[in-house]
Amino acid sequence: MVNFQAVLDNIADEVRPLTTQGKVADYIPMLARVPADKFGMAVATLDGGIYRVGDAEEHFSIQSISKVYTLTLALKAIGDALWERVGREPSGSAFNSLVQLESERGIPRNPLINAGAHVVADVLIGQGLDARAQLLDFVRRRSDDPSVGDDPEVAHSESLTGFRNRALANFLKSFGNLDHEVEAVLDFYFYQCSLTMSCADLARGFLFLANRGICPWTGEPVLTPSQAKRIGALMLTCGTYDAAGDFAYAVGIPAKSGVGGGIVGIIPNQLAVAVWSPALNAKGNSLAGTAALELFTTQTGMSVF
Ligand code: GLN
Repeated sequence: MVNFQAVLDNIADEVRPLTTQGKVADYIPMLARVPADKFGMAVATLDGGIYRVGDAEEHFSIQSISKVYTLTLALKAIGDALWERVGREPSGSAFNSLVQLESERGIPRNPLINAGAHVVADVLIGQGLDARAQLLDFVRRRSDDPSVGDDPEVAHSESLTGFRNRALANFLKSFGNLDHEVEAVLDFYFYQCSLTMSCADLARGFLFLANRGICPWTGEPVLTPSQAKRIGALMLTCGTYDAAGDFAYAVGIPAKSGVGGGIVGIIPNQLAVAVWSPALNAKGNSLAGTAALELFTTQTGMSVF
């Protein structure tokens, strides 16, 4: 039996010096204000354990981690029809790259890059419900934390400087791959990116993906086992963008990162683990967070390989 608390304590000591080596995302001005020396990590196990270290209960901007939640909701809503509008291949490009979208005629490579998430957002706002409320309620129930919220200042700040997202959404629209207006899609997209959660929330909130789609404490089937397997596969191949190969090599688990400095990973049938350190590496993934997850799989001997 692994002593998760001892592992987390040890990792926190080891990676703390790395927290100031990366660069906090500053293309979203509100994110640039977050202190680089924050560090938190949490593990939630399927048998009900929760382990924390550092700033594991502090809420931060989950940014692209939200793409896993919206993908989950879109698959629940329209199933495999989603794949007519978005692919399932790693992009090998930056998360906000415009290049492939033009040459591949408006079909984003996968749902975990920005353009793919815009298509997913378009699906969700087309379901005839209040998409924001539906997402927030879903995320709160997954993490079992009613204090999960959104940060309108972060969303507004991103919208003011969201030139690349606007360009991507306009490309999608020009190819007929958005049903709704560009600004309506971006409004929802910036909202989902502004959700604030803690490492403990994220670890609990991804357990359903480590549990064949079933929420461990309510028994609710959130996804079918097959859908949960497919989301795990997408996280492994696309969840850390053009670093996905390196990340799989170093860490060896499906994971999703965000430019807020969060990364959450799953080990099927065992646990979910989340880490937060705001300073990023050149690929836009948390530098110390990646190192912490590599230490976690190494020290516990747990991965998907
Ligand atoms: N909101 C961010 C953006 O669109 C999300 C990117 C990320 O977290 N990788 O640029």
